[in-house]
Amino acid sequence: MDWNSAHAETITHLQALIRFNTTNPPGNELPLARYLADVLRAAEIETQLLEPAPMRGAVVARLRGDGRDAPVLLMAHMDVVGVEAEHWSVNPFAGEVRDGFLYGRGAIDDKGMLAANLMTMLLLAREVAARRIHLRRDVIFAATSDEEVADEWGMGWLIDNHPESIRAEFALNEGGRTRVLDGKPLYLAVQTAEKVAHVVRLTAHGPGGHASVPLEGNAVARLARAIATIHDNPLPVKLLPTTREFFRELSPVWPVPAERAAMADLGSGDAGRVERGELVLRDIPMLDALLRTTVSPTMLQGGVAPNVIPTEVSATLNIRTLPGDPIDDVVAALARIVGDPLVDFTIVERGEESPLCEFSSPMFLAIAEATRALNPDLAVVPFLGTGATDSARMRRWGVQAYGVLPFPMEQSDEERMHANDERIPLDSLHFGTQLIYGAILRVAAA
Ligand SMILES: [Zn+2]
Repeated sequence: MDWNSAHAETITHLQALIRFNTTNPPGNELPLARYLADVLRAAEIETQLLEPAPMRGAVVARLRGDGRDAPVLLMAHMDVVGVEAEHWSVNPFAGEVRDGFLYGRGAIDDKGMLAANLMTMLLLAREVAARRIHLRRDVIFAATSDEEVADEWGMGWLIDNHPESIRAEFALNEGGRTRVLDGKPLYLAVQTAEKVAHVVRLTAHGPGGHASVPLEGNAVARLARAIATIHDNPLPVKLLPTTREFFRELSPVWPVPAERAAMADLGSGDAGRVERGELVLRDIPMLDALLRTTVSPTMLQGGVAPNVIPTEVSATLNIRTLPGDPIDDVVAALARIVGDPLVDFTIVERGEESPLCEFSSPMFLAIAEATRALNPDLAVVPFLGTGATDSARMRRWGVQAYGVLPFPMEQSDEERMHANDERIPLDSLHFGTQLIYGAILRVAAA
C-alpha cells in the first residue's frame, strides 16, 4: 500500500469536503453528497445518491463481499455546526493547511472521519480490483445529513426509508477519542455504550403572600434546599462491565500515579478497592460521570413579581442515567433524598435505552489489532459515552455500533470541536485513515 500518496489524496478530499459550507441549519449537504457520489462512482463503487428533503443529501455506497458474514457499515455526517467567523484566525471554509494542521469547520467533527471513510472505500476497491484482497462481508459507506440539529433527515431517515441499504452487523461511527498527553499517544477509547438523557422538572409548593411578611415554607427556599440536597448527595457508584474494563485497561498507561492506582482499584472488582478508587476519581468530573447516574440542574422557573411570594416554583434537572438504571427508580431515589412532600418530580422527557456493544466482538478486536499495528504502546479501551450520538439509535436497531475518533489529539485540540479554529493535525489524519482502513480490512477481508 502506497500510504504516502493515499495520505495526499485524503488531504485533498478533506479540503474539498470542508469547502462545501454545510452549516446546519440549513445544512445544504446535497452538493457535498454529489461530490462524494461522483468520487465513489468514478472508482466504480456501487453508489446511491438520495435526497431526503430539498438540498439535504444522503450517500450510500457498497463494496460487495462473498456474503459469508453480514455487512459492516462506515458512518459519518456531512453537516457541521455554525462558526463565529470573527474569532477564527483562518477562513473556516477554506481548508487551509498551516504548520502541519488542516483547519476548517468539521475538520474533526465529522468531515475528518468522512474523508477517512471515503479513502478506506477507495483503497479497498483498488485492492479488490487488483485481486490482492477478498471481502467476506459487504462494506457499506453512509454519509448523512442533519446530525447536528434535528436529526430528521439523517441516519433515522435512512433507517426508516432505506433500511435494506444500510443493514449491518457492525458499524463504525464518531463518538470515541484518541488521547495524546504531552505529545505522547496514550489511549484509544472506543465508545460501546451511552448514557441515557432525561429531563425532569422539580416543583416546590408553598404558601403565597406579600413579600413584606416572610413565610416559613417559602417555595423558593424549599426549591433551593431541594436542589442543594440533590447536588450534595450524588447517586451511588455502579460499575458497568464497560467501565470496569475501561479503568483496568487505562490504568497501566495513565500518567498520574494516584489516579493510576485508583483506576486499578476500580478495575479490580473488589468492593473495598472500588470504594477507595471512587474517592479519588470522583474529583475528576469527566471520570465521575462514568461511575454513576448524574443530575445537573440547568434551569429555574418561577416568580411573578419582586414583592410577591410565589406558591409554586420549579427547576429543570438534566439527568443522565447509566444503562440499566430506570429513570422512574432514579426519580424515586431523588424524592427520598429530598424528603419533602411539598416538592414533586415530573418526568418531562424520557430517554430511550439502547443495548450495550460487546468489547470482545470481531469489530472491537479488529480496531484493537489495527491500533496495535500502528502503535503498540496505545491502550485500546471500551468506554461509556456520557453524551448522545446516532450509535444509540443503531444499537436499538440491532447494529453493534462502535464510536471512535481515530485521530490522536491533545485535549486542547479536541476542544476545538464545535469551537473556534477547529483543526486536525495532518499526522493524525494519516493515522486515523490507516486505522479505519486497517480495522475494516481485519473485520471484512478473508
Ligand atoms: Zn459529529
